[in-house]
Amino acid sequence: MHRTTALPISIAALLRACSTAACAMAAPTPHIPPPRELLRPLAVPYRLLLGPGPSNLSPRVRAAGSQQIVGHMHPEVLQVMEEIKAGIQYAFQTRNRITLAVSGTGHCAMEAALINLLESSDTVLVGNNGIWGERAADVARRLGAKVHELLKPPGEYFTLRDIQEGLAQHKPSVLFLTHGESSTGVRQPLEGLGELCHRHGCLLLVDAVASLGGVPILMDQQGIDVLYTGSQKVLSAPPGISPISFSERAREKMQRRKTRPPSFYLDMSCLASYWGCDGEPRMYHHTGPVSSIFCLREALAGLAELAARLPTVTTVRVPEGYNWKEITAFLMDKHSIEISGGLGPTAGKVLRIGLMGHNATQDNVDRLLQALRDALQHCQHSRL
Ligand code: PMP
Repeated sequence: MHRTTALPISIAALLRACSTAACAMAAPTPHIPPPRELLRPLAVPYRLLLGPGPSNLSPRVRAAGSQQIVGHMHPEVLQVMEEIKAGIQYAFQTRNRITLAVSGTGHCAMEAALINLLESSDTVLVGNNGIWGERAADVARRLGAKVHELLKPPGEYFTLRDIQEGLAQHKPSVLFLTHGESSTGVRQPLEGLGELCHRHGCLLLVDAVASLGGVPILMDQQGIDVLYTGSQKVLSAPPGISPISFSERAREKMQRRKTRPPSFYLDMSCLASYWGCDGEPRMYHHTGPVSSIFCLREALAGLAELAARLPTVTTVRVPEGYNWKEITAFLMDKHSIEISGGLGPTAGKVLRIGLMGHNATQDNVDRLLQALRDALQHCQHSRL
């Protein structure tokens, strides 16, 4: 066999090569000095983010983001990815195998959905009642698909009849709708839509970037074929990693493709393999954003815990060293506020706060918090 390079080279040769390279590298003088602004410390002010996203990070998500990283394919990260998949399945209420998080923001998930579902031979019907329908139509046109827009004035949503007419007229293979239209503040009802689409041989693709976690959404029961969301809204994680899930119907459509998806980075078969969704050994596809993965895991854990909470009656652990009776009596005597102690298995352990109906107001929450602060200061003597 003809060999052009003899490997390995000797250490002496390596040292010679390195010193030559070092001389070569030392020769040119950089013309651009280090930017002065980078030599100052990073300054990030605290802001209460009450816009349509991003929202502030929860403390547990911040803690996850400041963890040291490990290799993105180390077993510990793969385990966290498994937990994320389970968390997304829970958040989306789906048992879909292809459930994962794409490395990018909500737009990335939108592109991942359209790039994998559509070929140039496909017709897509896009519900356009705000900016997100416009964006989806733009992406689909770039893919060369036939795009029809179902238009509604901003502020309105699509009825089952609107959609039925659109499906009958255009015979699309995919319908795109935005669940929470953040440009207009409108929620698109989803009841009956999956069934309607499937009767017309069409897949239902739903953008839930601004709604998931805040408004109930039941992917399997509602017959949604592709659902995605972002990390920076209700999940309160940093932007840059986006949960997405594909139904069996959607998976079959992707398998029937005649052409490969025009993006390597967003090719769902590669991503499904990387995320261990296909039962095969995982394949390296890209370097997973390890810190974002940790943050998303904690955000989904927060959602899982929250979902088990009753919004009408809040139970708060009695602070250590305090007597619950003193606290409730203090609130009643000094603030004329009734709250209760625990009951049955929680007797002596929790305070129970009801915020129901007419009483469920911000003012009452503020008043109670103020009174509790006062109680914690004045019930010191009752500390055990
Ligand atoms: N869809 C909806 C409904 C949104 O509100 C947003 C973000 N405002 C997006 C998609 C795009 O998400 P991102 O900015 O994370 O790319």
